[in-house]
Amino acid sequence: MTEPTRPTPKPGVMDIEAYVPGKSAAPAGVARVHKLSSNENPLGPSPKAVEAVRAVAGRLEFYPDGSATKLREAIAEVHGLNPANIVCSNGSDEILGLLAQTYLSPGDESIFTEHGFLVYKIYITAAGATPVSVKETGERADVDAILAAVTPRTRIVFLANPNNPTGTYIPFEEVRRLHAALPGNVLLVLDAAYAEYVRRNDYEAGVELVSSAQNVVMTRTFSKVYGLGGARIGWMYGPAHIVDAINRMRGPFNVTATAIEAGAAAVRDRAHVETTVAHNAEWLAWLTTELAGLGLRVTPSVGNFLLIHFPAAKKHSAALADAYLTERGYILRRVGAYGFPNALRMTVGTEDANRGVVAALAEFLKT
Ligand SMILES: *Cc1c(COP(=O)(O)O)cnc(C)c1O
Repeated sequence: MTEPTRPTPKPGVMDIEAYVPGKSAAPAGVARVHKLSSNENPLGPSPKAVEAVRAVAGRLEFYPDGSATKLREAIAEVHGLNPANIVCSNGSDEILGLLAQTYLSPGDESIFTEHGFLVYKIYITAAGATPVSVKETGERADVDAILAAVTPRTRIVFLANPNNPTGTYIPFEEVRRLHAALPGNVLLVLDAAYAEYVRRNDYEAGVELVSSAQNVVMTRTFSKVYGLGGARIGWMYGPAHIVDAINRMRGPFNVTATAIEAGAAAVRDRAHVETTVAHNAEWLAWLTTELAGLGLRVTPSVGNFLLIHFPAAKKHSAALADAYLTERGYILRRVGAYGFPNALRMTVGTEDANRGVVAALAEFLKT
């Protein structure tokens, strides 16, 4: 055997298909660009968060508090949690990766669903473990299918509830049933990135289940309802033993001073959250009705985005619709990598953006 002549990544790394973020640019000459590709808040962040960022700008020579105490306490106060059970992170992506690095070894398996968030597979593979994709039923997580995929090697089940890019959710009774049937050594990760938007009596993000179990964590983000995707802020709520393990694995200063200040101010601005959620509820309903009126199938969504399916006829494919919309400044998300080659995901935008997309799609379907 010949010696390698250059450094070689460990097994698994070159199997990773790097995450491709939503587009943000339109062709030159487009007057106004509406970015509807990454589920960002069309109203922007709380003005109080912006003010907090300005205030910290003059003190950036100082390292942040490595345990993000101010942010954990603000989150704990608003959600009625113990701050000792919270870990903050550089976006919730970081926490998802840390969970994989902490609990998965080569030979282990980790489950996610067919149209689940792509980041899970990346982190499972990066940890050297085996990703196990489980079929969904009706574009929704299927608890029986997940349970059927559990083997003695299973270590983590990742469940986005609601899921991205489908926007569907499973009632909390189903999550409980899943948890009740999982072996105690399998970690259930409830990714509740869109929890704030859900207006359903049978939905819960997972706080109670985390509090009463030793193998469940809930992850949350400031990138969606708080409009702070650029600040990179996420957090996990979990049992003490998992918090302890993650705190050993994470970077000592993984949350920036800017993120701590922005997040603490944002989470306390409940009025901004309410305004955002009300805007979303109104326009999600409007878009669902209007798009269906154009003859397009839309997956019923409880999030801040919609999955729009295009007709089988080639001339009205998702790819052509995407090009048509992009030329007019409406940037949606291709979702072929999520198993939807003929669909686009659209973030609920401003009134202007929403009306503009519907009008443009009406024109497109006449071409
Ligand atoms: C957007 C999103 C996240 C949040 O990612 P951040 O790293 O916090 O920006 C997590 N999970 C799902 C399912 C998402 O769609």
